Amino acid sequence: MKKKEFKTESKRVLDLMINSIYTNKEIFLRELISNASDAIDKLYYKSLTDRKVKLDKDDFYIKVEVDKNDNTLTVRDNGIGMNEEELENNLGTIAESGTLLFKEENKNKETECIGQFGVGFYSAFMVSKEIEVISKKFGDKKAYIWKSSGVEGYTIDETTKDDYGTTIILHLKDDTEDDIYSKYTNEFTIEGLIKKYSDYIKYPIKMNLTHEHEDKKSGKTETHVHEEVINSMIPLWKRNKNEVSSDDYDSFYMDKFYDYEKPLKVIHSSVEGKVSYNTLMFIPSKAPYDFYSKDYEKGLELYSNGVLIMEKCGDILPDYFSFVKGLVDTPDVSLNISREILQQDAQIKIIAKSIESKIRKELETMLEEEREKYEEFFKTFGINIKFGIYNGMGQNNDNLKDLLLFYSSKEKKLVTLKEYVERMKEGQDKIYYACGQSIDKIDLLPQTEKLKDKDYEILYLTDYVDEFTLQMLQKYSEKTFANISGENADIDSKEEKEELEKANDDNKDMFEFMKKAINIKGVRFTKKLKNHPVCLTSEGNVSVEMEKVINAMPTDERISAEKVLEINENHPIVNKLQTLYKKDKDELEKYTKILYAQARLIEGLPIDNPTEISNMVCELISK
Ligand code: ADP
Repeated sequence: MKKKEFKTESKRVLDLMINSIYTNKEIFLRELISNASDAIDKLYYKSLTDRKVKLDKDDFYIKVEVDKNDNTLTVRDNGIGMNEEELENNLGTIAESGTLLFKEENKNKETECIGQFGVGFYSAFMVSKEIEVISKKFGDKKAYIWKSSGVEGYTIDETTKDDYGTTIILHLKDDTEDDIYSKYTNEFTIEGLIKKYSDYIKYPIKMNLTHEHEDKKSGKTETHVHEEVINSMIPLWKRNKNEVSSDDYDSFYMDKFYDYEKPLKVIHSSVEGKVSYNTLMFIPSKAPYDFYSKDYEKGLELYSNGVLIMEKCGDILPDYFSFVKGLVDTPDVSLNISREILQQDAQIKIIAKSIESKIRKELETMLEEEREKYEEFFKTFGINIKFGIYNGMGQNNDNLKDLLLFYSSKEKKLVTLKEYVERMKEGQDKIYYACGQSIDKIDLLPQTEKLKDKDYEILYLTDYVDEFTLQMLQKYSEKTFANISGENADIDSKEEKEELEKANDDNKDMFEFMKKAINIKGVRFTKKLKNHPVCLTSEGNVSVEMEKVINAMPTDERISAEKVLEINENHPIVNKLQTLYKKDKDELEKYTKILYAQARLIEGLPIDNPTEISNMVCELISK
């Protein structure tokens, strides 16, 4: 019998467990029972898919035993069991997934969060001074015993065991002033813990419970011991909604999906029809830590009659709802279904459609009835909805358009497109929007001033995908969208337009000269501005904002908006320009360049020739 060392990683976690000041130590039992249940799942699955293995579902069980005299707690299962190598690999090294989460997320708060993670088996060291694992793998002849009293290491030896499966014996720590470990030998404490944490485990968890009876004749108290099944075994999602408390849902979610926060929304429903299924889905409060990385895999767990057949079924969840966590349980797909076949599966397609509409309706209801909550949701996952529209190439427009929110210049908060359209001014036929890095910056754009003055509502687009999303939508309730920095955002009356046209015509030659000086699409007067001298607008489909977004991407793609320099018709600079055009064209060229540079800066675009501009400014102010 040679003592072996734990892997370094495991040592760290183990050390944490042994010296844990974590108050919620009781979760160790849940972890052991979950492991037992997983081990039974594995064997049950084998019996379903391998004809040579004949086992009856009803024979599976987990048994928990307490012994006050020995101060031990034992968890027994008749699952798949482990051979020597598996004992070595599984218990000598902590499970990869658990460790990773632990390292990334909890450098500082290690001890508080133990319960949130599947640290699994090792958590038993929080309450034990020594652990024995006796296991015999299904189909094998030999049994093995793994023993450890903590960080010093462990031993593995051959032993005997009648049946396949695993028995875990915890030798509990001695009581201290702060921690009473002997309570884990109390039947009622353990019974309570099983009900609390493991009620939905689908195999019976049995215990011997002592009952006291008073014998009527003799008056003596007699004790009887009965074996009883403690858990209800009905998975949470198969229970009636009114039998499940919100605490049940929350802790189920946090345990299963490793979140510290309660879900924002729980969706629990049961559908009967062409295809029947139960679903329990959650919208997280915060985006999962890897949500925006390419490793994030969307999907729901897929169960067939309570047996897990796929951990991440992506085909039942549209990309734009990829943040939803949860599961689907249906008797209508076969256990042996493979990933490839699944995609073609007609039943799965029906379920996917129904799930999509279920989530969407929940969100619509939340928007209507719990506005604040919805806004919280939208701040976290709104970008997913926007990308859903953009990537859907028109296909998702109808499904998602009413889930969008944008900041409103008028309401000073997030509004829906429906709300915008409902309060549009008489005669207004466009939905106005402006783009920029932040609400404040957009507010300061020269163009917004005049529109606000005329009492138009403007949507402020601050996400880089926003404008692309609107372009994909094209219209909302027959109203087109207009960027207030674009050519089609005119709000002037017929007379005003004619007047402007004339002024532009009268100065045509000067503008032609100026345009050549800065090499852009055009220069003209505008009535859009109130106080500012100039602004930059665009013609065609590519807006200035889009140019910024696309050019900032790490691809080679470069686009350029067709820019127009617009000059405030009522600004004193106009006289100056007209005089220079008559008297000093060289000077006009400089003025033009400076005005154009100003307009670019206001829009947040770089200037190509900063030295030249700065020299010219200096020259002018020193005059
Ligand atoms: P996790 O359950 O998160 O994988 P654990 O540390 O709890 O991590 O368990 C490590 C591994 O040990 C399990 O993945 C499983 O393969 C094996 N194991 C644990 N308990 C049992 C058991 N009762 N029966 C069979 N295998 C088990």
